[in-house]
Amino acid sequence: MKATRIAYSTALNVGKHVALVEQARRLGRVRSEVWQRYGSVGGVGSGLTDRQVRDRWLADGTHVRFGVLANAWKETVRDAMADIAANLAAAKVEVRRAITRRTNDPAERKRMFTALAVDRWAEDPFLDRQMRKHWKRGRNRTHDQIVVRADKYNTVVDGRGRLWLAVPGLQRRRMVRIPLSTTVAPAGTLRLILRGGRVEVHYQIDASQLRSSQRPCGGRTVGVDKGYTEALTDSDGARHGCGLGELLSSESDRLKERNRRRAKLRSIANNAARHGDHAKEHRIAANNLGTVKRDRQAARHRARVRTEIFTAVHRVVDKAATVVAEDLTNRFAGRTTLGRNVNRRLAAWTKGVTAEALASVSERRGSALVHVNAAYTSQTCHRCGALGRRGGDRFHCTPCGVVWQADVNAAINIRQRAGDPDIALHTPHQRVKQILQDRTDRHRTRLPVQDSSPAAAERRANHPNRSAMSK
Ligand SMILES: [Zn+2]
Repeated sequence: MKATRIAYSTALNVGKHVALVEQARRLGRVRSEVWQRYGSVGGVGSGLTDRQVRDRWLADGTHVRFGVLANAWKETVRDAMADIAANLAAAKVEVRRAITRRTNDPAERKRMFTALAVDRWAEDPFLDRQMRKHWKRGRNRTHDQIVVRADKYNTVVDGRGRLWLAVPGLQRRRMVRIPLSTTVAPAGTLRLILRGGRVEVHYQIDASQLRSSQRPCGGRTVGVDKGYTEALTDSDGARHGCGLGELLSSESDRLKERNRRRAKLRSIANNAARHGDHAKEHRIAANNLGTVKRDRQAARHRARVRTEIFTAVHRVVDKAATVVAEDLTNRFAGRTTLGRNVNRRLAAWTKGVTAEALASVSERRGSALVHVNAAYTSQTCHRCGALGRRGGDRFHCTPCGVVWQADVNAAINIRQRAGDPDIALHTPHQRVKQILQDRTDRHRTRLPVQDSSPAAAERRANHPNRSAMSK
């Protein structure tokens, strides 16, 4: 995956700017020449390559007219030919549609598609007509760009930490040094765009090198199930944030042990107070029951968990344009407080961090976050829809006779909920269960299910509703 990054010049002196603008203007004439000569059927449309154009120009002296260095015009020819090729490809999309409209005969379609792909449309009257219709002769409109090949520039950091980019000017061995407003050196082929009195340096980088929050999101729809041993399991079967379980259980053990010791110390202090030994009471309170170290450790643990969860969400968004997830916010609203139960408190807090990470990463990286009703997603077979049993990390489906990975099965169900016509985000879980049962019953009997049928009622009675959250 490629991403474009832009560096900007800072405080570029006027003389250099004028020289670069002039170079870009001359290279604009090179572009215009390329478009005029090769921007149609006889040029790029006949399979002509930029290398052949260069050889022709060198042979007939065309290049001398432009007054630019050899490498500059050669790179510009290559760039302009690529623009024309893109223009041609866009026209072919239209012509392919026209072919589909014209004939239903697979052989005939294939013949025309192939002729189009290998640029031999001129031999077929219909294709020739269509191409001439859709491939409008373009013309160059670019007069403010300089393309610089990777081996033709260099970057230097000066004594004050400023990054300078040196690119070829109009004269041989006279580089133009451009101060940049970044400390990250551009790499690969550069496209300099002279705009608004400064230089924009555009270059491509591998998206995986970008800081995760700047990476573009992926293109697919991915369901995720929130776990405890790992932050997320996705509908492809991949697990993300696998260190979470270990982080949480070690923290839980540590907290339980510490709380036990603190309770003991507190009771000693209380006893001392009861016997009038206030000095001892204060000593214990000051030295043994302080909160500074405790708070610092807690903050460090929270930071580690957040990193684990955010990294997991970034991994999912790497491949997802749409992330489908259970709505993890406000799940515990209205319930009694969790008291001192360490595990449940940690789990509830983690859930909040996961919700926050999903929302924040999706927004920053441009993916959509879709919340769905997750009731019974961990107790339903994603293949046949039957309600089954989850035992530990396995889900067993009797009709299919298959054992699934429970969290993967749940993640796939969550993804499917996004397109479910009957189950909305706030459909009560009792109703969800009924809908799921009706579907499998219909599937088995191929008859509309009677809600009051004794069989269904009996089945409901035998399988009392578990909480939608029990996973
Ligand atoms: Zn099944």
